[in-house]
Amino acid sequence: MKVTNLNGTSDNVCRCGSWLNHWKNFSKQSLPDHCSVTNCNKKPEVGAHVQKDNSYDKNWYIIPICQDCNAKTYSSLEISDYIALVSANKSETCDKV
Ligand SMILES: [Zn+2]
Ligand SMILES: [Zn+2]
Repeated sequence: MKVTNLNGTSDNVCRCGSWLNHWKNFSKQSLPDHCSVTNCNKKPEVGAHVQKDNSYDKNWYIIPICQDCNAKTYSSLEISDYIALVSANKSETCDKV
């Protein structure tokens, strides 16, 4: 699946403490050994905000990736199809009552 890495969201932290924790809390998956980006073997260090490419779905999602991939802002990334995309919408996740 192709996604676009968004940025400028580091000040927008949720009650999970970090977006990587947010992914862990809601993905129902354990943290993968490697970055979600295909052919990247680094450890996932951050929860990145992404949007799906070529989709009517313009929601923002969180995926676990490494710092290097996260630095590639507004570029298209090919990610593993096995990685859960967790909604970045707090009212649907950690702020849900
Ligand atoms: Zn959260
Ligand atoms: Zn990476």
